[in-house]
Amino acid sequence: MSSRTEPSFRESVDLMFNRAVKLMDLPPGLEEKIRVCNATYTVRFGVRLRGAMHTFTGYRSVHSEHMEPVKGGIRYATGVNQDEVEALAALMTYKCALVEAPFGGSKGGLCIDPREYEEHELELITRRFAYELAKRDLINPSQNVPAPDMGTGEREMAWIADQYARMNTTDINAKACVTGKPLNAGGISGRVEATGRGVQYALREFFRYEEDMAAAGLSGKLDGKRIIVQGLGNVGYHAAKFLSEEDGARITGIIERDGGLFSDDGLDVEAVRNWIVKHGGVSGYPDAQFVEDGTALLEEECDILIPAALEGVINLSNADRIKAPLIIEAANGPVTAGADEILRKKGCVIIPDMYANAGGVTVSYFEWVKNLSHIRFGRMQRRQEEARHQLVIDELQRLDDVMGNTWSMSPDFKDKYLKGAGELELVRSGLDDTMRAAYQSMREVWHSRDDVTDLRTAAYLVSIDKVAKSYHAKGL
Ligand code: NAD
Repeated sequence: MSSRTEPSFRESVDLMFNRAVKLMDLPPGLEEKIRVCNATYTVRFGVRLRGAMHTFTGYRSVHSEHMEPVKGGIRYATGVNQDEVEALAALMTYKCALVEAPFGGSKGGLCIDPREYEEHELELITRRFAYELAKRDLINPSQNVPAPDMGTGEREMAWIADQYARMNTTDINAKACVTGKPLNAGGISGRVEATGRGVQYALREFFRYEEDMAAAGLSGKLDGKRIIVQGLGNVGYHAAKFLSEEDGARITGIIERDGGLFSDDGLDVEAVRNWIVKHGGVSGYPDAQFVEDGTALLEEECDILIPAALEGVINLSNADRIKAPLIIEAANGPVTAGADEILRKKGCVIIPDMYANAGGVTVSYFEWVKNLSHIRFGRMQRRQEEARHQLVIDELQRLDDVMGNTWSMSPDFKDKYLKGAGELELVRSGLDDTMRAAYQSMREVWHSRDDVTDLRTAAYLVSIDKVAKSYHAKGL
C-alpha cells in the first residue's frame, strides 16, 4: 500500500493531460483553455412520486465547444457529482477528437439509483430532467446531444427524444437531439453493442502488431487469451460476448457488484448474463468458483484485464498487485493517475479509455447523421450493389459453362458475395475503420517519439493536437 494520496477523478484526468501537454509546443495559454471545463449546470428538480415530492440533483457539463454540438452520455448513479461529470466531459472532448467524431465534449449525470424506481417513475424523472436540460439548450440537435451511459439505455434515450420533440414541435431534426435510441424511435442498428464491439475491434487491431504485443510481453493471437472482465453491463457484456464467441478468447473471470466468478476453463458469458438478469447478481452461479470480494479478481493472473464498470477501480491500493500485462479501459477512468504510473513502470500496456470505449460515440455519430439525413444507411445502394454482384456471378457462371464446367465456386461464396451491405454491415464497417485508424494514429506517436512511452500519452498528444488545430482554425 502506498502512502501517496489518490487524486480525484477530474484531477487524475488533468494530471494525465498535463503529462502529455508538457511534450507539446502549444501557443501560450491554449493549454489551459483546452484543459478547463467551460461550464457545468446543476439542476435540482422535484417529481411527485408515491404521494410525496422527491427532489433530484442532476448535472450537465460542457467541457469544450471547439466543435458543436457537444456530445456525451447521461449517467444514472448515486455517486454522480460535479467532479465526476466534469472529468467525463473532458474525456469526451479528447475521445471525439481522437476518433474524428465532429463534436465537442460534454457529459451529464443524475444522482439516483435506477434500481430503486418503477419504470413509470423513472419515466417521470427522466422526462423532467430532460425538460430542465432542453429548455436551456443543454439537449439540442445542433448544440448538445446526450447518449446512454452507466444506468441508462435505449429506454431513457427514447423518453428524452420524445420529451424534446414535445417541446419543439416544429423541429424537423428533433430526433437528432439524443443518440442511443431504439431502432423504432430513430436509432441505428448496432448502437447498443457499439462500445463493446469497439473494445473487440481495438483488441483485434492491437493483436495485429507484433511490436505492440511484445511491449506487453504477449504474442500470438486473441484466440485462447485469458480475459477478466469487471462489470457485465452494456459494455462489458458485449465485449466479453464478442471476444469469446468470435475471437476464441477465454473469459476466465467476471466481476460484478456482489462478487466475482472465476473459471480457468472459461465462463459462458451468455449464461452468466442470464443468471444476473434473473438473480440480480453473480452469486450462486453454478459453473464457476465464486469470490465474495470481487475486486480481488482484478489481481488474478490473466492475459487481458477489461475494467468495464466504473472509475478508479485500479488505484494506489492495488496497482502493484495487478498481474495482467495488458489492460483495456472499457470503462471511463478505471485506472487512476497514480496507478497508471505504477503499472507503466511494471511494463503493463494500457489501451486508454478515450480510445478503447470510443465505439459508442462513433456509432452515435452515425446515428446523428442518419437522423439529420432522414434516411437509413444502405437504403439507396443495397439492391443496386446486389444487382452488380449478380452480374459478376452470372458472368462467372457463363464462363464456367463455356469451359465445360471445369471448376466451381466455393459453396458459400455466392451467398456471401451477393449480399449487399445493409445498415448493420455499414455501421460495423465504419466502426472498424474508425477504431483501426485511431489506433494507428496513437501507435505511430508511441513508436516514433522517444519521449512517449505509453499509449495514453500518445492518445492525448493526437487528440490535443486536433483540438488545438480547431481552435487555431477559429482564430483563437
Ligand atoms: P451499465 O450500467 O450497463 O453496466 C455497468 C455494470 O457494472 C453493471 O452490470 C453493474 O452491475 C456493474 N457494476 C457497477 N458497480 C460495480 C462494481 N463496484 N463492481 C463490479 N461491477 C460493478 O453501464 P455501461 O453503459 O456498460 O458503462 C460502463 C462503463 O463504460 C462506464 O464507465 C461508462 O462511462 C463507460 N462507457 C459506456 C458507454 C456506453 O455506450 N454505454 C460508452 C463509453 C463508455
